Amino acid sequence: MYLAPGLLTACEKEIRPNGRSVIVVGAGIAGLAAGEALRKEGFAVTVLEAQEKVGGRLRSNRSLGIAFDEGASWIHGVKGNPVTKLARQAGMDTYETRDDSIKAYDLGGTAYSDAVFGNTEDALYETLRTLSSRGAANKSFEEVFFQQYPERADSRLWRFFLSTYITFDTGDLDQLSSLLYDAGEEYGGAEKIAVNGYDTIADHLAKNLDIRLNQRVTRIEYSADKVQITHNGSISEADFVLVTVPLGVLKNNAIEFVPALPANKQTAIQKVGMNCVNKFLLIWNATFWEDVQYICYTPEAKDKFNYFVNVNKFHPGSHALMTFAYADDARQTETMTDAQVIEQILAHLRDVYGSSVPAPQNMLRTKWGGNPNAFGAYSYTAVGTEMRHFDDLAAAVNNKVFFAGEHTEADYFSTVHGAYLSGIREAEKMTALL
Ligand SMILES: Cc1cc2nc3c(=O)[nH]c(=O)nc-3n(C[C@H](O)[C@H](O)[C@H](O)COP(=O)(O)OP(=O)(O)OC[C@H]3O[C@@H](n4cnc5c(N)ncnc54)[C@H](O)[C@@H]3O)c2cc1C
Repeated sequence: MYLAPGLLTACEKEIRPNGRSVIVVGAGIAGLAAGEALRKEGFAVTVLEAQEKVGGRLRSNRSLGIAFDEGASWIHGVKGNPVTKLARQAGMDTYETRDDSIKAYDLGGTAYSDAVFGNTEDALYETLRTLSSRGAANKSFEEVFFQQYPERADSRLWRFFLSTYITFDTGDLDQLSSLLYDAGEEYGGAEKIAVNGYDTIADHLAKNLDIRLNQRVTRIEYSADKVQITHNGSISEADFVLVTVPLGVLKNNAIEFVPALPANKQTAIQKVGMNCVNKFLLIWNATFWEDVQYICYTPEAKDKFNYFVNVNKFHPGSHALMTFAYADDARQTETMTDAQVIEQILAHLRDVYGSSVPAPQNMLRTKWGGNPNAFGAYSYTAVGTEMRHFDDLAAAVNNKVFFAGEHTEADYFSTVHGAYLSGIREAEKMTALL
């Protein structure tokens, strides 16, 4: 029988147990990527996951007939991005969302001209290139920005750009670092959105792993030879533990470490920020908006319901829009009823498209701020964050307790690819100890 060379290698590589055991805490992409890499190196791997399914912030809700990604939606920059390959392997279909396919409206449904919108966007990028030179360790982005450009505070269009281009990606502007607001690297190439659900990747990575669901870890004791992990009242032991819970979970002290974590790690947990973003999917029985990818609106409200993704583009005939709330406004939406949320979103859409816009048939929404498995959406560089804090978050303790997750990846924090790379990094660290 002929086997293609790649296939031959894959078949021949038999996994030899190396005698060491690892418990991975959390079955998000960081934990799953690490678990799978460690399994292939012969470690006995067990994954303990608090929720009823794998994926963490890769979470797709299909209850309305299309995949609504409650967490990550996009592969940010497909070129050289490890998630591009993973998506292909996992069978995750994607659609290129074009940033230039856009309509922008002010109050009363007055359209912004392409020139006004484009010039403001260019001016923002120019400002971002230079603002950090006026920043200071104890000053927020907001303070430095409005000191420099006081007139922009009164512009709804400027507030829209700050909200959707900065707060969405980072955090509250009055808490965002004026020095490190654009820290991190980016991949080039297109932005692609998941069509059949980002959790496809999690399911793919999970398929050969021993995963125990509904297991909430509450204590990690690492002073003895073996690490002891308490979950749902039981104790499991392993040579190593890999902690991949979100930064929000660490900030909330949801896991007790015995002995306490080193001071520099505790400082890093406090200093790096955790943003909140919530997503809302609304479905109608007919489409009343134009055939563009993005609809922008510049309301008085600061950080909510100002940006709409036209879901019809990648789910033709779905008559669906996805919108967002960020930072404080995101946390505040969590106290609102569905009816209140719908009323506010409808007020924005009716201002643009007229009073005949009907109420949606259905809505799905997230509440990441209060979610005990995350306590927020993703990490960002808050005032007081230094890049070394990401390395402190990643550092192993006593070569027994290892850490992965998007918040531990200095170059690509806050992303799916950052989380994935952090899992691979920690698997390599443990393998190097053999
Ligand atoms: C609203 C939103 C939009 C986003 N959009 C994008 C995007 O478009 N593109 C992009 O690249 N990134 C995006 N991200 C970020 C991306 O989703 C994350 O960076 C990435 O999925 C994090 O993976 P992780 O493995 O580090 O953490 P997680 O996926 O959060 O995994 C951690 C796991 O630990 C589990 N856990 C928590 N506490 C315990 C405990 N005590 N015991 C056991 N298990 C526990 C959790 O349930 C979870 O499964 C978005 C995130 C959100 C929330």
